[in-house]
Amino acid sequence: MAKRSPKDRHDALVKEIEAHDYRYYVLDDPTITDAQYDAKMSELRALEVEHPELATPLSPSQRVSGEPRAGVIKVKHEQRMFSLDNSYSEADLAEFARRVLTGLPDAEVARFVVEPKLDGASVEVVYEKGQLVLASTRGDGETGEDITHNLRTLRGVPLQIAHTGKITLRGEIVIYRKDLAAINAEREAEGLEPFANPRNAASGALRMLDPREADKRRLRAFFYQLVEGPQLHATHAESLTWMADQGLPTHRRHVVTPWEGVMPQIHAIDAARAGYPFETDGAVIKVDAYRQQDMLGFTSKFPKWAIAYKFQAERAATTVNDILVQVGRTGALTPVAVLEPVELGGTTVSRASLHNADMIAELDVRIGDRVLIQKAGEIIPQVVSVDASHREPSAAPFKMPTTCPVCGAPATRGARESDKPELGEESTTRCTNTRCPAQVKGQIFYFSRRFAMDVDHLGIALVEQLVDQGIVKDVADLYTLTPERIADMERMGDKSAKNVAASIQASRERTLDRLLCGLGIPQIGQVAAKQLAEAAGTLETLLGWSDEELREHTDAIRGFGPKMVDSVAQFMKNPGQRELMKKLVALGVGRPQPRAAVASEGPLVGTSFCVTGVLSKKREDVHAELRAAGAEIHDGVKKNTTYLVAGDKTGKSKLDQAKKFGTKVLTEAEMNALLAGANVV
Ligand code: AMP
Ligand code: ZN
Repeated sequence: MAKRSPKDRHDALVKEIEAHDYRYYVLDDPTITDAQYDAKMSELRALEVEHPELATPLSPSQRVSGEPRAGVIKVKHEQRMFSLDNSYSEADLAEFARRVLTGLPDAEVARFVVEPKLDGASVEVVYEKGQLVLASTRGDGETGEDITHNLRTLRGVPLQIAHTGKITLRGEIVIYRKDLAAINAEREAEGLEPFANPRNAASGALRMLDPREADKRRLRAFFYQLVEGPQLHATHAESLTWMADQGLPTHRRHVVTPWEGVMPQIHAIDAARAGYPFETDGAVIKVDAYRQQDMLGFTSKFPKWAIAYKFQAERAATTVNDILVQVGRTGALTPVAVLEPVELGGTTVSRASLHNADMIAELDVRIGDRVLIQKAGEIIPQVVSVDASHREPSAAPFKMPTTCPVCGAPATRGARESDKPELGEESTTRCTNTRCPAQVKGQIFYFSRRFAMDVDHLGIALVEQLVDQGIVKDVADLYTLTPERIADMERMGDKSAKNVAASIQASRERTLDRLLCGLGIPQIGQVAAKQLAEAAGTLETLLGWSDEELREHTDAIRGFGPKMVDSVAQFMKNPGQRELMKKLVALGVGRPQPRAAVASEGPLVGTSFCVTGVLSKKREDVHAELRAAGAEIHDGVKKNTTYLVAGDKTGKSKLDQAKKFGTKVLTEAEMNALLAGANVV
């Protein structure tokens, strides 16, 4: 028997992987384990390493590929992407039915398709010659943005289909509820605000320039319309079935019915939707026959043959038993309504966030009030309205405290400069005492998290006791704790005390990036902390930088915007933070950050460079190029520094140093010549 060629094996693997993707991402019904799937992907990748010609853009290994895009590319839709007319009641719907019937010739009988209305972001996707060639957002309906690079990352969307004619599809990009929970946990770890609902997360992700970022958002597509396609189908329902046969993801939850069946089907979707993996905000009712759709046509905004029926957000009435004010790691005071427990959307709700003083003032919610709460795709329930008619005359308006409810220090309202105004920080009230036990507890907890110093066994109850008893006043104090001291705390056996002490001591060995992460510098998440750590090497160096030097170094980091630079600068100037960092240095917490490796071959082996001033590229990128060519990077000009690359606005002190040590000063162009292999300057 002839041995199978690598190409045959590759083809077979691609088919298998695609079939499993479909089962997993579209049907939610995988037939193999993750490990088995990974093994197939590894085999595919190994084949492609050996036979690079097999790694075509159609291979599942190439879904996330290419450099981030430099900017937005506009796409004009061949046919306008209309939105849908809305209805909220049976009467609205009856009116729609009447308009449809009067719009059709007398003898026509209409049938309708009822489908769930997915709450996400709309997309248009074009396949040509059996390949996915273009994906775009809705934009203003006429023109959207090219998001092909991001759509390719969706495992449930085939890169190839059997049909070879051109087709244009429309669909909704959604994020499953369970996936959003995971994404939010990751975001929290990066110091970012969690998404309030999957819709925002999905539409933001679709427009990202870097497909690797979009890939992290676990997007899924469900196509609900064939705009242009094989003109074989007479009805929308047939098109949906045909799409599914092509392996294209559709919601597969539609029914075809005469008018009498429409309302019952809407009720059925409403009853079932809590069990759907994605958010549904209504149902869509469409005339099934394309011929009839054509007869009905469009208004300037909507198709006349379809309408959305919006569900009421799930609401429940309950009583506000109390309004608590919580104090977080950053000192922010957050009012929280403590509710009489009530069932809402399948869970028991006993708290609702009231965000800030503005929101409370707007609602005028008071203790004892009857309120309506709702969950509209949002994870944390909101108070929608207050029924003031049931209010006790004695109930006073709620006032945001002017002192911290935990430590009693003055609490002031106003933005921390480095915070993001778009997150509404300017309406935040903060405790002004950096030693506030509530803040310290929050900071210790944050410091010990997985993504930061990863201190195992350090539970909330223990942290509470240590801070309340004044044993630990900041994160640095953790490192002075002995097992005996910990064992004195309540509910702490000798063995667990030893474990906690050991994990604290073990965390000394974490690299600088994790330490910086754990300090909770506003705007600085895991990625930025790593870049900052690589720039500085050690906390001591970072502390030693003048404001000017700090700005010079942070400015040079790719992806560091002015706000991030300001945030780091402000943090490093803060006397309390400096004192804490010095304490950590003295305690020997944190290991120096390993620098990127220097290539052992290349035109610049044996040389060293200090790069300063403004160049045409980010300094970080220049460093990478130099290292790749074998050069070592020096932060400052030292005795043995071979070259100083002086960009615009180079400081005089660097030039003086260069003179002193006989370091050759280069322009960017001269450096590029060296990089390209030129010998002498
Ligand atoms: P709206 O944005 O509220 O005007 O509603 C119109 C949008 O609903 C469309 O642009 C689609 O993105 C979305 N949609 C969700 N599910 C469906 C569906 N099954 N059929 C048509 N549109 C849908
Ligand atoms: Zn306080």
